[in-house]
Amino acid sequence: MTAALDTLHRIFGFNDFRGVQGRVVDRVLAGQSTLAVMPTGAGKSLTYQLPATMLEGTCVVVSPLIALMHDQLRAAEAVGIRAATLTSVDQNRAETRGRFLDGELDLLYIAPERASTSDFRELLERGRVALFAIDEAHCVSEWGHDFRPDYRLLRPLLDRYPDVPRLALTATADAHTRADILDQLGIPQDGLIVAGFDRPNIRYAISPRDNTTRQIADLIAETPGPGIVYAQTRAGTEKLAEALAKTGRPTRAYHAGLDPEVRARNQADFVASEDMVICATVAFGMGIDKPDVRFVAHAGLPKSIEAYYQETGRAGRDGDPSVAHLFWGAEDFAKARQRVAEVEPQRQAGERQRLTALAGLVETTGCRRAVLLRHFGEQPGEVCGNCDNCLNPPMGTEATEIARKFLSAVFRTGQLFGVGYVEDILLGKSSERSLINGHENLSVFGIVDGEEAALIRPVARALQARDALRANPHGGLEFGPAARAILKGEVDVTLVLPPKRERRRKGKAGA
Ligand code: ADP
Ligand code: ZN
Repeated sequence: MTAALDTLHRIFGFNDFRGVQGRVVDRVLAGQSTLAVMPTGAGKSLTYQLPATMLEGTCVVVSPLIALMHDQLRAAEAVGIRAATLTSVDQNRAETRGRFLDGELDLLYIAPERASTSDFRELLERGRVALFAIDEAHCVSEWGHDFRPDYRLLRPLLDRYPDVPRLALTATADAHTRADILDQLGIPQDGLIVAGFDRPNIRYAISPRDNTTRQIADLIAETPGPGIVYAQTRAGTEKLAEALAKTGRPTRAYHAGLDPEVRARNQADFVASEDMVICATVAFGMGIDKPDVRFVAHAGLPKSIEAYYQETGRAGRDGDPSVAHLFWGAEDFAKARQRVAEVEPQRQAGERQRLTALAGLVETTGCRRAVLLRHFGEQPGEVCGNCDNCLNPPMGTEATEIARKFLSAVFRTGQLFGVGYVEDILLGKSSERSLINGHENLSVFGIVDGEEAALIRPVARALQARDALRANPHGGLEFGPAARAILKGEVDVTLVLPPKRERRRKGKAGA
């Protein structure tokens, strides 16, 4: 038995390494710098805690949140690891420094802003460092979803110790962010280890939204067992909980604005229940251990593919079949793009790319799982057999012509009007407004009829998703960066229409 396995049994009480843990630990013990990308729950902490107990000297752990550090500290001390945190709220900082200098610490947790101070540099020089672990390492990248400038200050410190290995850890990093982390932290390309991201028991489905409550009620009717419905606002969670109670299933709302007692009770009820539906904001689910969640529904677009993966990942932790169903609308993209415009300029490119990736996921006619896994750098097969598009292939409808007509009508009416108005112009529907505006004389007035008419709304949605059109705060549509190429005929537009079953239902509801 290797020494590492022996330590795993003796100190942590586990039989085996899980997934890539063993490979990561081996590299670290061999003194090689590493970036480990592992999904939440895969056991990242162990990959530095275990070497920390074996190597001579202290493992310095950089972590972004004091609360997180204290959680980790408690967990490490519980298994007998000698650990301490050095943060502004710790009263025992002098004692901790002493323990470090005396070589009595396996783990020393520290925030990035303190790690880069000269005080800390001098402290390290007088002691012995075995390993640098950089937790939540995506914070070092502007491409990451949570850039923290303090992480950039770590590099000079790390470079003072060329012989001390670096272990960067993150759950969420697309290929671009990963490359950037390696670069920023000076970790060699071959030091990248990525755990498998596939969750084969989760069936992914994504649909345009027409009547959210009815769509989610349908999902609930088809799916016994506990479920989470993510809404985008606090009010939304309460409205949904009330409306969905009509399905006969117990429902609860959960958001940060609830009275703490009510919130705690709703959470406890959900964890104990076998059929409850909890309508929550995305804060719900972190740190909740409920393995038998049978479905996760999104009533609106998540923030990114990473967020989507993390939120849907709360379904089916027990390995049994589960469903993740996302309902989205064009207005979700409009709102998200407005938010992007408000972030600091240097982060906008990354945020925009994140939205484009998300649009790719919702618009694909191909396998959803393949899109997800490719996003996380894996090379999956073309079909998974367990997503909406694999099970019920959607029809791709050629819509380049109608897309160009729509864009052209938006342009000619001055990029001021909403979908309904532009639709009426294309269909040649006369109104007081179109008369006064003189829009009935435009060449685009009435150029759409027959079968094409039904494609106007879906095309408007697709154009917004791919950023060819943007809605201003008043709902008026204007050109986005992707408009030109479509107008010039350089890019085709294929519409994804929902498969037959769903369209029939939609028709019945009179949408
Ligand atoms: P992450 O930080 O990647 O989200 P954690 O480090 O919090 O994950 O670990 C998740 C859970 O998995 C913890 O309860 C941990 O004790 C457990 N765990 C880690 N490694 C193993 C292992 N090899 N065998 C069994 N359980 C493990
Ligand atoms: Zn699939």
